[in-house]
Amino acid sequence: MIDATITYVQRLFLQIATLDTNIILFAVLVVCCIVVLDSVNIFARKKRKETGIDQQTPTVSLDGSINAEARHYVSQRQGLAGRPDAIILEDGFIIPVERKPLANKIRDRYIAQVLVYMRLIEEFEGKRPPYGYLILGPKCRKFKIENSAERQAWLQKMIDEMQAILHGAAAVPAPHPRKCRRCDMREACVHGQPATEETIRIGAKKAS
Ligand code: SF4
Repeated sequence: MIDATITYVQRLFLQIATLDTNIILFAVLVVCCIVVLDSVNIFARKKRKETGIDQQTPTVSLDGSINAEARHYVSQRQGLAGRPDAIILEDGFIIPVERKPLANKIRDRYIAQVLVYMRLIEEFEGKRPPYGYLILGPKCRKFKIENSAERQAWLQKMIDEMQAILHGAAAVPAPHPRKCRRCDMREACVHGQPATEETIRIGAKKAS
């Protein structure tokens, strides 16, 4: 039995050795392509899972994807820029998806981010998305953020305030002891210094 196997393998090697070099190279190339495509597929599936998008959803862009590269929008007209974690197609609409893997609850700033994406998609893709998605936490909880006129007006107010500050208006800090402790600006901001009676008072007032 062992002798027969050895003979078979020897014959196989002999046949391979007598094959045309081009055929061998072609076979190697095919194997390499299969390995690469398989790796890309595994990577894409992993990315999709991380983003909370199921396999069936048509994807326009996905952060880290080779086939559907992330789209980075920069609008000089609106003074806005953004790069959604993913963009999907639903009912003929282009829908932005933002993933916050460490977040455990929805926050205003996340909603504002999705609203900005919806503005950019409307400008660059030519169609207003009726909603966007926020995917929160390790379990990928999905929240639909409606693109309502009220929400866009709320966002516009914030954008106007930021634009005014950029053009010289005074920035009014909103201190909170917990927030100030972790703020990147604390070295430069008077409220970032060790908690004062005033920051504690303001923080307590906000919390109530
Ligand atoms: S340190 Fe200043 S800038 Fe930072 S959160 Fe507090 S008030 Fe705002």
